[in-house]
Amino acid sequence: MTARRQPVLGILGGGQLARMLALAAAPLGVKSLVVDSVADACAGQVAPLVVADWTDDAALDHFASQVDVVTFDFENVPADTAHRLAKRVAVFPAPQALAVAQDRLAEKTLFRECGLRTPDFQAIDTREDLDRALAAIGAPAILKTRRLGYDGKGQFRLRTLGDADAAWAALGAQAAAHGLILEAFVPFERELSVIAVRGRDGEFRTWPLTQNWHTDGVLSLSLAPAPDIATLQEPATALARTLAEKLDYVGVFALELFVKDGQLLGNEMAPRVHNSGHWTIEGALASQFENHVRAVLGLPLGDTSARGLSAMFNWIGELPDAAPVLAAVDAHWHDYGKQPRPGRKVGHATVCAPDATRLVERLAGIAHALGRDQQAGPAVGELERR
Ligand code: AMP
Repeated sequence: MTARRQPVLGILGGGQLARMLALAAAPLGVKSLVVDSVADACAGQVAPLVVADWTDDAALDHFASQVDVVTFDFENVPADTAHRLAKRVAVFPAPQALAVAQDRLAEKTLFRECGLRTPDFQAIDTREDLDRALAAIGAPAILKTRRLGYDGKGQFRLRTLGDADAAWAALGAQAAAHGLILEAFVPFERELSVIAVRGRDGEFRTWPLTQNWHTDGVLSLSLAPAPDIATLQEPATALARTLAEKLDYVGVFALELFVKDGQLLGNEMAPRVHNSGHWTIEGALASQFENHVRAVLGLPLGDTSARGLSAMFNWIGELPDAAPVLAAVDAHWHDYGKQPRPGRKVGHATVCAPDATRLVERLAGIAHALGRDQQAGPAVGELERR
């Protein structure tokens, strides 16, 4: 018998996304090798970890020689690093696609080209730009860094025009390095995300739309399939497909949308597996992690249908007591193995059920046992209302 060589997936960034990718890769016979700049990166608990900086060319070249394909758990990997790797090994999503998703201005411009409306926005490089943009867009508005922002970081909300000084004091110093963007604040009815996957052969699939709730800019709760999406699923899928094809995107990505007056508006695109898709691990036939591994390795994609209904709680800062989740029917505990720290994503739990009545029951029961009624409240309300 000839010896067999298992494919090796290289992952840049060693957080919980890399950890869940490596866990999904294993049953496919795919080994993972993770690079992170810190030695206790939590993916290192489930896959070999190379400790190296994004600028450590020698270490990255050696890493590239050990893997069949490179992907990301972290979208802010510097473009130079991605390009350097792409000269040595297949990198998916490609550095060009990553570059668009790294820049809020390029991303929103692309959304419009693809026919997806966005909140009004203007690029801001100077204090004068901010005054001009505020006069045009009005208040309330949000000033954001164009690059390196995520989970509400690098953002300042302007309630009135008088907040311009405070906004500039908070973010003006970053205008030169990263550029800024001013966006109209959208009093949206709902936040939805499309989790989509495109294979190396162009095959494209989406999971059912997910509804999301954020606290201080960080995802707190997801519900999938989002209730009452009969008129939204098809246009959202079509927009995600257009975007993916324009970027020749390979792998999983998330398109975050606002719903305002029943219409979709584009907020941002995350060029990677996404927090609002964690429910797919237990709630869909193939998870976002498994399909990302399949996509970047050129394997056929798995079925993205939901098994029933799912809700996901995000655990931020520190983990609550696991017992009420472990004891509940069809509820699933995920501990990322991280040290507690304010604002840090340390785990999540997904609760599944065959119908809305039973999901409400299970969700409310777990939330109550954990003293988290407030966190579950919006999803329970949404399920009961629709
Ligand atoms: P982002 O990092 O841009 O996804 O922002 C994090 C969260 O802040 C979003 O999921 C929204 O809940 C909120 N947000 C961001 N931009 C806007 C906007 N233009 N209008 C209203 N809410 C926003």
